Formats: sequence, structure tokens, C-alpha cells
Amino acid sequence: MPNSSVGSRWVWRPWLFGLCGISCLVTPVATAEMPLRIARCLLDSYPGALCEMTATDLVWCDGTRTPLRQGSGAKNHAEQLEHGDLLDQMSQKYTPFAKPAPLAVDDEPGRIRHEPFFAKLYGPSRTQVRKTLVPVRWLDGKVLLVQGKFGIAKQLAAVRDELAHLPPALTAAVRNSAGTFVWRTIHGTNRRSAHAYATAIDVGVAQSDFWQWQTPDGNGKLTWRNRIPSEVVDVFERHGFIWGGRWYHFDTMHFEFRPELLHPDCRGSVLHNPLD
Ligand SMILES: [Zn+2]
Repeated sequence: MPNSSVGSRWVWRPWLFGLCGISCLVTPVATAEMPLRIARCLLDSYPGALCEMTATDLVWCDGTRTPLRQGSGAKNHAEQLEHGDLLDQMSQKYTPFAKPAPLAVDDEPGRIRHEPFFAKLYGPSRTQVRKTLVPVRWLDGKVLLVQGKFGIAKQLAAVRDELAHLPPALTAAVRNSAGTFVWRTIHGTNRRSAHAYATAIDVGVAQSDFWQWQTPDGNGKLTWRNRIPSEVVDVFERHGFIWGGRWYHFDTMHFEFRPELLHPDCRGSVLHNPLD
């Protein structure tokens, strides 16, 4: 049974994409304002779970608090991946609707996750997470278990319906799904995967590219590859999902519900807005 008291209150609002105007084109606001801006993006994205914010904390609706910054904050990228706090999590800007392209080393907005934040949102155990999952039938006919909180399952169903109306040549790669909910860690790490919360879907494995399938070059650098059409990525992004193809450590089959990174006040500049 989904947690409808939370799930029914979240509605993805694509019209927000049109609101930032010039603010999307300028350098981020002064440092003092940054924590508040980031807190607002998180607060807006998870209504019913988060109720208030300060310049230092997010306040959950049950009264508990999560500090935006934990520790000194002086971490390199590997440390941010391992122990990132909420400001680290939001430190790289995700740019939706951009033409898929190679990323700079370690430019991978969304890969830094403050693990306690997601455990609090969706549950700390397999048993707890399972209570809020709902079935969604994918394009290949498979029934997938998807997180019901924040309307995520409804958004994924909307993605499916929009993909069904794209030319078949564009969607052939993603008609097959390779799973949503698996209570597991990220391969090769102790960090919990977004799949453990059923907030991510893998599609089109046969036409996907994954950094771990590649041998780095002589300088240890990865070569970005992608075979997923941008039209497909646009559809997911319009419904609150980020794409693993926009990560230096690319994972082009992977789409993950992260509306805080797509919030007009926290995302990167949108050069091509398909809603215009
Ligand atoms: Zn995945």
C-alpha cells in the first residue's frame, strides 16, 4: 500500500521550468544565500516529509533536523561520494534538456548522495521500503515495483505513456527494463543504491554504456559513450528523473528520481527547454 498521505501531495510541475528566467543565466547567488536556496530546493521537492528550513538545517515534518553541512565541508570528490552532506549533494549542478555530451572528470551531479537523507525519506530497511512500493507496467509488459511516495510511481507511468508516443526508432533502446527495486549497495561500494529505494529504473541495457565496462586510457581517464536518444532523456527529466548519462562515471541505462536537482533554483542553465 503506497504512502498516499505523502505521495498524493507531490506533483511534478514542469511549468516551473519557465520561471527562473535570467536567474538561470547568472552565476549562483552569494555564498550566504546558498544554503537557503539549496534548502528551498529540497523542501519544495519532498513535501509532506520536509516541513521547514533554516540557513543551517532542514526540518522534517516529524520535528527532527538534518544539518545542511556536516563536518568541515572540505572534502575531495571521493570523500563527498563516501560521506557527502546535503550541501555536497547539491554542489554540482545538473543541467536537464542539454544535448548529451562528455563530462569533465568527476562532474556527475546526483552521484553524491547524503545517505541518511534518503534512508529517512524512503525507509532504513528493505521491509520498510517495500511498504510504499506500487506496481507500474513498463513498455515491455513487465510489472515493476516503484516507490509510491512523492508521486514517483505516477511520474514513471507518465514517462512510459510519453515514450509510447515517440517514434519507435527512438524508444527501441528503452522498451526493455532491467529493474527498479533491488535492496542493494552500489557495485563495488558500501553505499546504498537508489534502486534500494525503488526511485530508479534501468532501461535498455543492451544499448547502454557503463563506465565499469570500460578500461580507462593510459591517463586513467574514462571515455564517455552513449546510445540513448536525447528525446528519451528529455521525457524522463520533465518528470523529475535525472540521467546517469550526465555523469563522468556514466551509467546510461540509469534514471533516478531527484527533483531537487531539477528545481529551477538549483539546476544548471537550461539552454534548450522542450517546453518553450
Ligand atoms: Zn540503475
